[in-house]
Amino acid sequence: MPGECIFCKIVNREMPAEFLYEDEACVVFRDIHPAAPVHLLLVPKKHIRSVNDLKDEDKGIVSHLFLIARDMAKQSGVRDSGYKLLFNVEKGGGQVIFHLHLHLIGGWKKP
Ligand code: 5GP
Ligand code: ZN
Repeated sequence: MPGECIFCKIVNREMPAEFLYEDEACVVFRDIHPAAPVHLLLVPKKHIRSVNDLKDEDKGIVSHLFLIARDMAKQSGVRDSGYKLLFNVEKGGGQVIFHLHLHLIGGWKKP
């Protein structure tokens, strides 16, 4: 439900988060509990519960998220070292915030 959704509140600036990027369709901010030195969340402004709830009309949003991920990876310095892009889907898939978001995770030290 958008009214109770933490990421809708962040998008609407009703809850704090430093936006590393913002455009008409999405925002990017750091994960509050980073799983790696770089852990960004790419969040569409439209409330969509999960990948399961994507409609055909949302395909522009999904492709947009991947292009922003490409740019944020470069900006974060992980483009060449590599990174993970991840959608958790529903409880069994590890999703805890039910507003679609793409994790960009990387920046591990070289072995
Ligand atoms: P999920 O498991 O739903 O795919 O990922 C949700 C992510 O959101 C988690 O990694 C969690 O640490 C992050 N998160 C939850 N609440 C907040 C918050 O209020 N601010 C920020 N920046 N990240 C959050
Ligand atoms: Zn939401």
